[in-house]
Amino acid sequence: MARKEIKAWTIKDSDEYYGISRWGGDFFGISESGEVTVKLSTPERKTEEVSLYEIAQKVVQGGLSFPVLLRFRDILRAKIHELNNAFLSAIKESGYRGTYRGVFPIKVNQQQQVIEDIVEIGRPFHYGLEAGSKAELFIALSHLRDKESLLVCNGYKDREFIDLALYGTKLGHKVVLVIERLSEIRTIIERSRALGILPFLGIRVKLSSTTPGKWSESSGDQSIFGLTSHQVVSAVKILKEEGMLDRLVLLHYHLGSQIPDIRHIRSAVKEAARYYAALYKEGATMGHLDIGGGLAVDYDGSQTNFHSSRNYTLKEYATDVVEEVMEILDPEGIPHPTLVSESGRFVVAYSSVLLFNVLDSSSLTVAPDRLSVPEECSPTLKELIDIYNSISVKNVQEAFHDIIYYRDLIRSQFIMGDIPLWERGLAELYFWNGIEKLVKVSKQLKYIPEEIEEAEASLAHIYYGNFSVFQSLPDAWAIDQLFPIVPIHRLNEQPEVPAIIADTTCDSDGKIDTFIDIYDTRPYLLLHPLKDEEYIIGIFLVGAYQETLGDLHNLFGDTHIVNVALDDDGEIVFVNEVEGDTVEDILSYVEYIPKAILHRLKRKVEQALKEKKIGLPEKKAIMEAFEEGMRGYTYFE
Ligand SMILES: *Cc1c(COP(=O)(O)O)cnc(C)c1O
Repeated sequence: MARKEIKAWTIKDSDEYYGISRWGGDFFGISESGEVTVKLSTPERKTEEVSLYEIAQKVVQGGLSFPVLLRFRDILRAKIHELNNAFLSAIKESGYRGTYRGVFPIKVNQQQQVIEDIVEIGRPFHYGLEAGSKAELFIALSHLRDKESLLVCNGYKDREFIDLALYGTKLGHKVVLVIERLSEIRTIIERSRALGILPFLGIRVKLSSTTPGKWSESSGDQSIFGLTSHQVVSAVKILKEEGMLDRLVLLHYHLGSQIPDIRHIRSAVKEAARYYAALYKEGATMGHLDIGGGLAVDYDGSQTNFHSSRNYTLKEYATDVVEEVMEILDPEGIPHPTLVSESGRFVVAYSSVLLFNVLDSSSLTVAPDRLSVPEECSPTLKELIDIYNSISVKNVQEAFHDIIYYRDLIRSQFIMGDIPLWERGLAELYFWNGIEKLVKVSKQLKYIPEEIEEAEASLAHIYYGNFSVFQSLPDAWAIDQLFPIVPIHRLNEQPEVPAIIADTTCDSDGKIDTFIDIYDTRPYLLLHPLKDEEYIIGIFLVGAYQETLGDLHNLFGDTHIVNVALDDDGEIVFVNEVEGDTVEDILSYVEYIPKAILHRLKRKVEQALKEKKIGLPEKKAIMEAFEEGMRGYTYFE
C-alpha cells in the first residue's frame, strides 16, 4: 500500500492488476496511453496493435450505441491455425502415422459470419464441422465445401436427421453418423436401405474416466450421452448381423467442456484408445478417433487446474493425446487412426469482446466531509457518531462490533417508531463510512481481522452497465463462469473504486460480483471514478457459447455486432455490421404485433385529446415518441 502512494501508477500496474498479459494470449495488450489494444493484421499480414477505445469511438461515430459485440476474424484465424498446427507438429514430432482432422462444433457459435469464416480459414487444414441437431446439420451441409473434411453428426437423431445426413453422404461429404443410443442403429440401417445410401458410422462411448468441474457431466456412467461398454458390444453384434460393421469408421467421446486438468484428458484418451483397439479387432473399419471437446481456455490467466483455467498448454494437450494413443495401439500393432477433435471454446472464445458503457454508479458511503453532524439527535445516533470519530488502529475490532450494535439498535428503534427516518438515514451513512474507515485503518495492522476483511467486499460501489448479463453473458449467471473484465481506457490512472457491476435488467441476479484473480477470485473489481466522459468496459473471451445461450430476460435483445479488421492501409474497417434487435423485433418474438400495440396506444392518445388532457402538438409528439421507441435499440441509447 505504502509503495503505491510514492510510485505513480503505470500501465504495468494495470496489466498486473487486470491480468491482461496472463489471459490475453498474443492478442490483447495495453498501449502507452492506457488503452486496451488488440493485435490485428492487414491483408498483407502486417500486424498492428489497435486501440479498442478507438474502435469503440468509431462504432459510436458510425451511429451504433452500446452495448456492442466486437468480433475479430484475425483472432479466429490465429486460433484455428494454432489448433491445427499443434496437432500436426505433435504428430510429426512423435512419428505418429496418422493425421489430424478437427471439426468445429457449431453449437459453440452458430452465427453465420463465424461459421463462414471458420470454413474458409480452416480449408487448408480440411477443418470440418460438427452438428448436433437438424438445424445445425443444415448449416454444415450448406456451408462445407471441402469434401475432404469431416462432418460429424452427434446428438439424438430421428429419421429426418438421418435422411439429411445420408443425402449429405450422397453429395460427396464425409458425413459421420455417431450412434448415441442403441435404438438409433436400427433406424439408420433401415433408412440406409430405403435410400440405398451407405452411411459412415461412429459410436459414442461413455467413458468411466470422469472429470470434476462445472461443465463435466458429459462423461461417466450417469452421463446422458453415449453407449455403455455393454451397449457397445450389442452395437457391434447388430452391425455384424446386418453386414454393416465395415461402415463403422469412428469412435467418439466427449468429456464435457473446459477440462482444466490434463490428467483427466490423458486418462480419457487412454480408455478411449482401448475401446478403439477393441472395435478394430472386432473387424470394424475404424480409422478415426474423435476425442470430442474439453480443451480449456485460461479465462483467469492463472495456468492452474482452477475451473476458469487450465494447467496445460495446447502443445501439451496435443502431444499427450498423440502419445497416449500410440502407447495403447502400438503394442497391439493397430494402425494409427486419424485424430479428430471437436474443440469449440478454444477456437472461438478469444475472438469476441463485449463493450458496454457505464450509466451511473452508487455507493453506500459518502465523502467523509459530507457527513453532517446534527445539532440534536437521539442518544443512539450520538453514540454511533462518537464511535465513528473514535476509530483508530488501537480499537479496530471493538469499534467494529460497537458500530454494528448501534446500527442495529437504530434500525429497531426506527421500526418501533421511536426514531425519525432522517436519523436512520444518517445512521446508515455513519455506519458504512465507519466500515470504510475501519477497513482503511486495519490495513496498518499486521493481521487484518477476518470479519473486517469480509466487510470490505460489501463496501463495493455498484457500477451500472448498459448490457444484460442474461443476454450477453448467460454462463456468468447460470454457472458462475468467470470472464476477464477490464476498462478499455484510463489504464494509466490508478483504479481506486472497488466495484461490482450491475446490468440493466431489473433482476437481482443481473450482476457480476465475482472477478478473476491469479489466486482464487475477487469479490470486487477496482475501477476508475466516473467522469464526464463515457466510461467503457470490455468483457473478454466471450466468443464461445454466450451468444445463443443468451435470453430475452426483461426483453433486452441481441446486441449490435461489428466485425473489425484492418484494410490495406492499416485503417480500421467494419466488415459486416449486424444491428441488434429493436424493441419491435423483441416484441414480435414474444408474439405481440408491434403495429397493434401502436394502434392501441394511438387510441389512448386520441382519447386524451378528446378529453382535452393534451393538445394537437402534444398528440403528434407523443405518437412520434412511441413510433421511434419501437424502432429503437432495446438498451439505453
Ligand atoms: C459442446 C460439445 C463440444 C465442444 O466442447 P468445447 O469444450 O467447447 O470444445 C464438442 N463435442 C460435443 C459432442 C459437444 O457436445
